[in-house]
Amino acid sequence: MTSLPKSPAELPNGSLHKQFVRSGKPNCRCTRGEPHTAHYFLARMNGRQVKRYVRKADLQAFARIVQEATSLRKHRREELKKSKESLKTIRRILRETKINK
Ligand SMILES: [Zn+2]
Repeated sequence: MTSLPKSPAELPNGSLHKQFVRSGKPNCRCTRGEPHTAHYFLARMNGRQVKRYVRKADLQAFARIVQEATSLRKHRREELKKSKESLKTIRRILRETKINK
């Protein structure tokens, strides 16, 4: 992953995380106890954990893509669950039909 994914379809997993960081500059607010926030995208790719820095300028658009991908995955999981339940019902009906014949 060389750049951030640009569409929900490119995001099979992963989520955004906020971290507090210190720049270490002597006169910066972070050295006075007010750390900066940085956003990272954490995902699993080919069995490995990857971490990508998300620039402030990209954050809003990227957060939307991550949110879309997450709800897409949730939707797919629910559809799969419904399909499995339907299959179970069909099998039960078939079984009962055999028994009663
Ligand atoms: Zn700083």
